[in-house]
Amino acid sequence: MTQKRTILIIEDEPQIVMGLRDALEFEGFRVVSSGRGREGIALAKSESPDAIILDLMLPDMNGYSVCEELRRADGLVPIVMLTARSQETDKIRGLDAGADDYITKPFGVNELIARMRAIFRRAARAPGAPESLEVGEARINLSAHSLTIRGEVSELSFYEVELLRLLAERSGQPVSRDEILSRIWGLDAAPTNRTVDNFIVKLRKKVEPQPERPKHILTVYGFGYKLAL
Ligand code: CA
Repeated sequence: MTQKRTILIIEDEPQIVMGLRDALEFEGFRVVSSGRGREGIALAKSESPDAIILDLMLPDMNGYSVCEELRRADGLVPIVMLTARSQETDKIRGLDAGADDYITKPFGVNELIARMRAIFRRAARAPGAPESLEVGEARINLSAHSLTIRGEVSELSFYEVELLRLLAERSGQPVSRDEILSRIWGLDAAPTNRTVDNFIVKLRKKVEPQPERPKHILTVYGFGYKLAL
């Protein structure tokens, strides 16, 4: 009997919480929730959730600050941000604050469930998968989510690790954006979805000596990306 995975929802709109709670509990998750940022952060500490769904607009704190505090307390827990805004800058700001992913409202509950399933499918990866990777000068520990380059250690987010892992599995071969989206985010590709590109930009900043002239994480125009070790 495996223990139920816990998902923390920090969101102040009761209908959204209710819809998510029903759907996630139906999927077999345990759900804890709060409509306030401060209380949500306290719940994250007391409940150690396996994933967090975080609304950007909360009554007592803004979601970016909540995200930063959650991230400081736990470098690894997957955080999916809910945003009513559709502007790219808000999304990038959310990702910079430590979110792994975002979903723009209104969203389908099924889309969010698909992402949660994808997160936990990968978390249950079979033992024996490679645990480290060298990309150029960067040494990446995939299980510890850490990256060392020229003696400097930095953390990698959940999705950054998964993206690197997928590209590494197919090293030297192009992987399409559609495949990346469906395998990592559990999503059907949408042409406007910039998620993959945003993560590539972040990874290049961490891995590439000159991020604007990448040598390792290469764009395959009109298709996707490939990794050159
Ligand atoms: Ca809200």
